[in-house]
Amino acid sequence: MPSYRELLQQVKTEIGEVDARQAQDLLDGAEPPLFLDVRERDEWVEGSVPGAVHVPRGNLESRIEQIAPDRSREIVVYCAGGSRSAFAAKSLGEMGYENVTSLAGGFTDWKRNGHPMDLPRVLDDDKRRRYSRHLLIPEVGEAGQLKLLDSRILLIGAGGLGSPSSLYLAAAGVGKLGIVDDDRVDDTNLQRQIVHSTQELGEPKAESARRTIQALNPDVEVVPYLERLSSENVDRILADGWDVIVDGADNFPTRYLVNDASVWHGIPVVHGSIYRFEGQVTVFKPFEGPCYRCLFPQPPPPELAPSCAEGGVLGVLPGIIGSLQANEALKLALGIGDPLIGRLLLFDALTAEFDEVTLRRDPACPVCGEEPTITEYIDYVEFCAGRPAHA
Ligand SMILES: [Zn+2]
Repeated sequence: MPSYRELLQQVKTEIGEVDARQAQDLLDGAEPPLFLDVRERDEWVEGSVPGAVHVPRGNLESRIEQIAPDRSREIVVYCAGGSRSAFAAKSLGEMGYENVTSLAGGFTDWKRNGHPMDLPRVLDDDKRRRYSRHLLIPEVGEAGQLKLLDSRILLIGAGGLGSPSSLYLAAAGVGKLGIVDDDRVDDTNLQRQIVHSTQELGEPKAESARRTIQALNPDVEVVPYLERLSSENVDRILADGWDVIVDGADNFPTRYLVNDASVWHGIPVVHGSIYRFEGQVTVFKPFEGPCYRCLFPQPPPPELAPSCAEGGVLGVLPGIIGSLQANEALKLALGIGDPLIGRLLLFDALTAEFDEVTLRRDPACPVCGEEPTITEYIDYVEFCAGRPAHA
């Protein structure tokens, strides 16, 4: 039975090693390898090789395929002194990784020889507790949670759809939430708009939502816009810098405005709509999938516009559709999963059935097509005067 020392000696003969200087040359090269830091978290937070990805040794085998799906990718593994990384490199080799080396002397030598280091951003203890259920998911983890805390999502409407999406996005720790709504809370809203309460009757919805969100999660900065989205203000609002737009508007003028602005600003839109027992969700990501005008180049005549019908909505339906919108927005912010780009998800609350329809880009689309014919905002006439702006 070999001793640890003998085993380490043996392993080192079976793997490739680079020293700190060679590693620096690789890092400075045209195609730097993936630097994998297999130390424990308390070592990682003290400093790391710039751009390195942290995977504690104990999680290496279970996470590596997600971090490096391409087994031919060049990888440099390091730990503090070069022993844990030697075993890690051997294990990766056994998993079929073809181009793995271990940093001899580890991070200790790297640092001692004056090579550059990053001080990784980490969550403080309170945030580690608050978001612990995210940290337990490898696809999110600490890096993903930091990404969420850095992300900025704009909600159009603090109504039925905006209520659950804003609450879940806030709970998830999205750092900045913009809310565009010029409406005030009235008693007919409370059957479904759960971000508001009876106490807030008569308050501006954007302010009421801000209070609820800040009580839920003080990490979130809420930017209320107490105005109705128009051709006059849309560029100013979008210029505040948003990664994703969650569209909870129920009227055509706003929907077309959001679409055209999002294409021109290059911001993905998570679109949702609801009517009685039926809801729909999709993601319009400019130039990667269709936009709203690829499907409906122009608004329908007012008498045919579904949002003009005196239809109600089952109170829970916006909860379901708005939550699906939050799900898509979180995926987009994290860069994980398969967003609903080019796919329209339909939900029927009465049968409890989901359906999916494929949506395609239209090369003749007046906004995102090859020869756009619409290049300026259009303020469509209000179809249903007196109706609330948002579902
Ligand atoms: Zn289009």
